[in-house]
Amino acid sequence: MENLRELYQEVILDHNKNPRNFRKMEKPDGFAHGTNPLCGDQIDVYLKLTDGIVEEISFDGHGCAICTSSASMMTLALKGKNEAEAKALFKSFHHALTDDAPHPEDVPLGKLKVLAGVKEYPVRVKCATLAWHTFDAALKKLQGDITTE
Ligand code: ZN
Repeated sequence: MENLRELYQEVILDHNKNPRNFRKMEKPDGFAHGTNPLCGDQIDVYLKLTDGIVEEISFDGHGCAICTSSASMMTLALKGKNEAEAKALFKSFHHALTDDAPHPEDVPLGKLKVLAGVKEYPVRVKCATLAWHTFDAALKKLQGDITTE
């Protein structure tokens, strides 16, 4: 178990040191700013959607190691997903971080599982979910801009 924990730690540290898709996006379709006052995390999430699929996603800002690595892993996990898949993944991720009860509808988390360890540190849950909430906000803002009628 200790080795597993170390491995998880390594993945998180790696993403913190070399965050993936860490850049401001020119002309994103959707954009939102997220803050976590408890920790001081501040990030922006940018995305491009094509036919409801996350074609490009990036982020920038300042966050603690948990926040930055979670945002980095989120961009990898969401690229290529459609909206329903992205929402299901967010929900399942949130469950893994906050809830021990089984949720049969949850989808596999893949590498995002390494962040489930923050469950032991409730204050950190907000760090780990900030990017996801910000992504969600960007998506909602985007939908607000689209008129289908
Ligand atoms: Zn934080």
